[in-house]
Amino acid sequence: MLTCEKCDFELDEKSEYCPNCGSLFVEKTCANHSDKEAEGTCIICAKEFCPDCGQDVNDKFLCNEHSDLEIYQSMVRVYGSSDSVEIDYLVTLLNQEGFHPFRFDRKANPISLGGVDYSLFRASGDYDGHIVNEIKLMVPLNEYLETKVTIEQILDQEGNE
Ligand SMILES: [Zn+2]
Ligand SMILES: [Zn+2]
Ligand SMILES: [Zn+2]
Repeated sequence: MLTCEKCDFELDEKSEYCPNCGSLFVEKTCANHSDKEAEGTCIICAKEFCPDCGQDVNDKFLCNEHSDLEIYQSMVRVYGSSDSVEIDYLVTLLNQEGFHPFRFDRKANPISLGGVDYSLFRASGDYDGHIVNEIKLMVPLNEYLETKVTIEQILDQEGNE
């Protein structure tokens, strides 16, 4: 079994990059600059980027567009609300669609996420603007883009009814 040298994630033999930390194992050019060598693969959008277009954030490589997402281990916040019923509703619908959503509630037991304090969630910039009692809807990294679209569709429909 191959593992990533940087994060010990188990890899497919054919992996060109580590889906857990974004380490790139082959030479690629940046998705934005065909003349620049890529430094890593964004773990959200799976594209390669040069150091101008992406960066390591807490040992995860992210493109500039996705560098302000809140990521914890292999989960990413796709939605947040102080409305517990709304979050439960979305979790149910996403489960039905075959996704793996996880409800993260500051007041619920964070031990289930590894016993790490809420404050360890990374957010670029100022944290003060966040809703303190926000319930976070987390999904696995590779489900972020799809679940984001799905959630927007669900909320759109709700709004139109
Ligand atoms: Zn890795
Ligand atoms: Zn990205
Ligand atoms: Zn670039």
